[in-house]
This record gives sequence, structure tokens and C-alpha cells, in this order.
Amino acid sequence: MLTPFDTSKLWIGGEWVPSSDGRTLPIENPSSGLTVGAIGRASRDDVDAAVTAAERALNGPWGALTAFERGRLLSRLSNLVLAHTELLTELEVADVGKPVSQARADVVALARYLEFYAGAADKLHGQTIPFLADYTVYTLREPHGVTAHIIPWNYPMQIMGRSVVGALAAGNAVVVKPAEQASLTSLAFGWLSQQAGFPAGAINIVPGVGAEAGATLSGHPSIGHVSFTGSFDVGVQIQSAAARHAVPVTLELGGKSPQILFDDADLETALPVLVRAGLQNAGQTCSASSRILVHRRVHDHVVEAMSSIYRTLRVGPASADLDLGPLISATQKIRVERHLDAARATGAKQVATGRIVDEAPEGGHYVAPQLYTHVNPREPLAQEEIFGPVQVVLPFDEEEEAVRLANGTPYGLVAGVWTRDAGRQHRLVRQLKAGQVFLNDYGAAGGVELPFGGTGHSGHGREKGFEALYGFTKLKTVAARHR
Ligand code: NAP
Ligand code: MG
Repeated sequence: MLTPFDTSKLWIGGEWVPSSDGRTLPIENPSSGLTVGAIGRASRDDVDAAVTAAERALNGPWGALTAFERGRLLSRLSNLVLAHTELLTELEVADVGKPVSQARADVVALARYLEFYAGAADKLHGQTIPFLADYTVYTLREPHGVTAHIIPWNYPMQIMGRSVVGALAAGNAVVVKPAEQASLTSLAFGWLSQQAGFPAGAINIVPGVGAEAGATLSGHPSIGHVSFTGSFDVGVQIQSAAARHAVPVTLELGGKSPQILFDDADLETALPVLVRAGLQNAGQTCSASSRILVHRRVHDHVVEAMSSIYRTLRVGPASADLDLGPLISATQKIRVERHLDAARATGAKQVATGRIVDEAPEGGHYVAPQLYTHVNPREPLAQEEIFGPVQVVLPFDEEEEAVRLANGTPYGLVAGVWTRDAGRQHRLVRQLKAGQVFLNDYGAAGGVELPFGGTGHSGHGREKGFEALYGFTKLKTVAARHR
């Protein structure tokens, strides 16, 4: 694969360096299953070197910048990202198997994060607090120092954007551990950051293996904060590792997010959203709406209408830019298929599927989108995050039952409510266990401005929007006595 930087190196302290033990990992193209290159595999020593480089940047040129100067660098980087849209799109298509237009949308989202936080950098400030007559009290928002960012493979650019960019705006120096299967656009981010003029060490990218580079980073004594996006199990390990040094963490974990459709909803508007919200990125989306709860009066009609959308969907290589691309890996495909086999064995009924096109290469990790009914809400298909192109439809009779079903998993990330009844809308907003609730919509096209995060097994802390900046800073209270 032709890239303007050496993919097999790590980006540490403003330089491309090989891993200390010379090891690399293969880059697999999920559309073909073929190996198309190699990335570096950061060792524990490399992670240590990246943290040291970040500390040096904080004590040097990066730490000396004003907030508006940091904003200007982010703004320059935003423009550079947009100017390299085609390169970044190609990398993501080859590395992650995203259909071209979805990969391109991720580039635009990354640029938008940079633009948003460029503007926010010099608008983050403390407060003055009225206190005793002979005191002046104020608060300072200070960066944590070196922040760690551990990124999954499903939206490398978007998740790096929301995790890393806010931290930089707030004045932290960052060390990023992208996912093994999807590191190329993170490396490209390092490459572009140099062109934007970021001081050496402000941004460090150390691809590698989770249990090695990721574990070293999250348990490192010199970091001030960990922002993790990924699975529940790894999130718990990260929080435990960080706890050894009392380091705060943000956990963006999985979900089993419902959309609740009442019989008074605008069905024509809802239908395409119900499906798209579940199948975007072949269902490999933390906020995927994998459960559709439908009032029994309209249940059969909705299932039939969703089925006809499913039957039009085509799956194929990312370069063909169809509705769905492949899953990320053979492992992920096997995981999804096992889940579905088990569900069918316990009575779940597959009512519609999409189609894998004939041109799809043999070695690609394709799974056709599948819609299920007759699923017991307590069964794994309705409880666990499948992370594949699968939705279940569950009927309900009463509003109270809908809420109980919606809240009936360990997760609480996103929920959608489709009804024209304003009283019901606001009742449900308060009752639903979720970090984001959409009324008569779902997802709002990503919404860089909208605080995002979960509750329960979906994690804690908020990223995106201005709110994220509070998480990427620590508060200092200053009480000045007048004497
Ligand atoms: P994952 O297995 O948890 O991995 C996420 C990241 O953690 C990867 O970079 C991984 O490295 C690293 N890692 C693995 N073990 C580690 C350890 N012991 N210590 C430190 N780091 C470690 O998740 P995934 O399968 O890549 O991604 C899918 C999951 O992410 C889903 O559960 C999904 O819901 C969740 N997700 C959540 C959000 C959200 O905002 N709430 C967004 C997107 C995805 P390797 O690549 O080497 O394994
Ligand atoms: Mg790959």
C-alpha cells in the first residue's frame, strides 16, 4: 500500500521510530482477507518513551502555548485533514473495510471535531465564586498532563477525533493506542499534525497489542487520565489498571440501544431510520440501535416494512461502496454467526436478510444483514451486544412495558422514541436509562456538539461537545484572603 509515511513505524516525540524490538503486526484488508502491509508493534519500552516525550512537550513548547494558539493548531490540522480526504478515505477503506462514502464521512467528522475544539480551546474557563467579604475565590481548569487514549477499530477517525482532540484543546499531551486492526488513519493523524506545526511530543501514536501496549499505557504511573472506548470487559481492566495510581478514566463501552415506536408515530419517517440506525457500519457501532420495540397494533406492519428495506440491502467490498461492507475480521464474523446460530436454535425467527453480492471476494468477512422476531427479551440476542448487522423487533402493549423492555439490559447508551404525544415523550425521556435520548430521530448524524456517553455497562464520563472539556481538565479552587 502506498502511503506518504512509513506505516511500520511509531510516531513518538515528533519522529517516526521503529518499535524497540523491531516487531510489527500485519495490516489486513477486511474486504479481501489479504495482508496489505505492516504496522509497528509498540513494546512496553516504546509506550514508556511516548509518555516521556509527552511529558517533555508539556514542560516545553506545547505546555507554553496559550489556549488560542492551541486552537489555531487544531484549526490548521482540521484544514489539513480535509485537504487529505482522499488519502484518509483510501486508508480507511483498505484497513477497516468501510464503504467509501462512510469512510469519507468519518474524515469529515474528524475535521469537524478539530474545528469544534479549535474554537472551544480559548473558551474554557473557571469561575469566580462569591464567598466571605474578605476573600476572592476562583477556579482554574488545568490539563491532567499526559492523557492516554485507547481506541477501538470500528470508527478509528471519529473516536480518535472525539477522544484526542478535546484533550489537546484543554492543553494535555496525548499518547494514542489505536486498535491493532485499524491503526492507519491514527498514524496519518500523527503525520498531518507535524505539518500543522504541533510541537514534538504533543501527539504520540503507538499502535500495538492491547494486552501489551494498551495495558502498559493504562497502568502507567505518569499519565493523568485515560480515555477508553471499547468493550465492557476491557473497560473494567483499564479502570482497574488506572486505579492502581488513582488515575481517572472515561469509559465509552458498548450498548444494546432501543428505539421505541408507538402506534401514533410517523411511520414513513421512522422506517428508514429504524433500519439505518442498526446497520450503519455493518452494525459495528456502539450506539447501533439493535432492538426495535414496537407497539403491537403496528408490529406486523413495521416488521413487513422493515423486511422490505432489508431485502434491498447489498453487502460487498468497501471499494464498491454498497450499503454494507465486511466485518472487521474473521474472528468478528465467527462471533456474530455463533450468536445467530444460537438464537435460531432457541426459536428466534429470521424474517428478512440482505444479499452479499457475487463480486464479494472469498476471503472477505461478509455477513448479510438480518432481521429477527420471536426473540425472548431475556435471551442473548436481545441482551448482548452482537456488533454485527442484526436487529430484533420486540412487541409491547403498554407504555410501561416499553420502558421496562428498553431498560431491561445492563447497558444504557442511546435510546430513540417515536411518538407524536409530547407528554409521553417527556415522561419517557426521564425514565429511560441512556446517556442520549432522541425524540422522533436517532443519532442526529453523529452530532459533534452533543455530549455522548453511557450509564451502567455502557460506561461513564462524557465525550463530545463542550462537556468533554470538563473531563479532560481538573479543577483547582483558589481562595485569596485580602490581607
Ligand atoms: P476492545 O477489544 O475492548 O478493544 C478496544 C481497544 O482496547 C483496542 O485498542 C484494544 O487493543 C485495546 N485493549 C485490549 N485489551 C486491552 C488491555 N488489557 N489493556 C488496554 N487496552 C486493551 O474493543 P473492540 O472489539 O476493538 O471494539 C468494539 C467494542 O467497542 C464494542 O463493545 C463497542 O460497543 C465498543 N465501542 C464503544 C463506543 C462508545 O463510544 N461507547 C464506541 C465504539 C465502540 P487491540 O486492538 O490490540 O485488541
Ligand atoms: Mg485492517
